[in-house]
Amino acid sequence: MSNVCPICKKDDALQKLSSIASSGSARGSFSGSSVGLAHIDGKWGTTSGSSYLSGTLTTDLAKLCAPPKEPVNPRNRMGIIGSLVGTLPIMLGIFMLTLDIGIGKYVILGGLATLPFLRWASTSAIRKYDDEQSAWALKMAKYNKLYYCFRDDAIFNPESIEIFPPADLADFLKHPSNPPHVVDD
Ligand SMILES: [Zn+2]
Repeated sequence: MSNVCPICKKDDALQKLSSIASSGSARGSFSGSSVGLAHIDGKWGTTSGSSYLSGTLTTDLAKLCAPPKEPVNPRNRMGIIGSLVGTLPIMLGIFMLTLDIGIGKYVILGGLATLPFLRWASTSAIRKYDDEQSAWALKMAKYNKLYYCFRDDAIFNPESIEIFPPADLADFLKHPSNPPHVVDD
């Protein structure tokens, strides 16, 4: 199966979005062609050189074509912060008591009192992360289907024939799913 651009109906100027982003510049080999393709100042063309394509424009395209950012897993971070915040006052309080400093027991109690809060904070951070993670996975599934046509400066999904400029990628990925075809009467 070969993909063709829905605008120019050709496959010689296509590159998978993920490979544009990972190469950091818009160049490479394309289906049925051994030369690189460049898109400079609104024009596209073929080239066999590599220096031709180094420029801000290709970098900008790679940036626009970058995949959605993966959320950071809070589990490790929460563990470190939580054990520090939770155990420090208790350790300090015990240390104060060994020095016969009376308020040491209040420091210990204060440390114990923060534990349920820490537990709640880490649980909600992890829940939020899990939500973000599944939203990100959906975005990646959409993203991995997308192609870019250098000739038309357009991104498209060959399955659903959705076409849009690279600047609209973030908006496109934000939609929870492809809009259903609604038939009005
Ligand atoms: Zn095209």
